[in-house]
Amino acid sequence: MEGPSLVILKEELEEFRGKKVLKVSGNTKQPKESLRHRTLQRIETWGKQLFLTFSSPARSSTPIVTKTHFLMFGSYRINDPKPERFPRLELKFHNGVVYFYACSIRFGAVGDFDALDPRVDLMSDRWDVAHVIDLMARKQETFLCDLFLDQNVFAGSGNIVKNEVLFNIRRHPLTKLAHVPRRDWPRLAEAVHEYCWNFYVWKKQFQLRRHWQVYRQTKCPLCDSKLVRESLGKFARRSFYCPKDQALQSRQRKLVVFPVLPVEMPDQQENRLEH
Ligand SMILES: [Zn+2]
Repeated sequence: MEGPSLVILKEELEEFRGKKVLKVSGNTKQPKESLRHRTLQRIETWGKQLFLTFSSPARSSTPIVTKTHFLMFGSYRINDPKPERFPRLELKFHNGVVYFYACSIRFGAVGDFDALDPRVDLMSDRWDVAHVIDLMARKQETFLCDLFLDQNVFAGSGNIVKNEVLFNIRRHPLTKLAHVPRRDWPRLAEAVHEYCWNFYVWKKQFQLRRHWQVYRQTKCPLCDSKLVRESLGKFARRSFYCPKDQALQSRQRKLVVFPVLPVEMPDQQENRLEH
């Protein structure tokens, strides 16, 4: 799940804020029983991480903070009448049940969330393009496919964002940042930021997949060429790109951000719980 999906999850969890945990189960090795009888106090996200703060029942002990990362295959369900068999964590409140699956859950410390820099969180209202550009200055030799997955620079960006933004700027995944003129870096960072907010809107409308131009697609929507699928870069995550429209060039050239292509596919519901 990428940053925009975490923000949607946060919104969906709002109904449990201020509510007491009645029952806890799940196969996490963390001391989950200690959450019982505590009240969910704070719900926060940073990049791809969810932070839940549970108040102390006795007021004397400190609150507990859980940090959840959905990794590549994590998911969640809320009030699912047919939950899957092995949730990592299941939290029952009097007004509903939350299930987390295939994710990493760790018990952290109060203050862990506040220690993170909101200026790099693409979904934060404190996201700061000038700060992001300062960080990019140290990454001139980095491939764009790695830069767009670097959580220290673009917190919340994931493989969908990476592939779609690379297509929007018509660049090969192995383009080095140095091949984008410095004056275009704000536009580059904004392209990632803007895509994340489109992702958020589309997903809420159940229209995210309809807007995928190259991610998990087979043909280029511009020239009909067969898209290349390769695991590229330091992170070796799958890249989908058009060998013609996103050909690798070794010279520096002006950055152009093309608008996302209009959707022509028929209307269909999609599973909003993925990605
Ligand atoms: Zn093409």
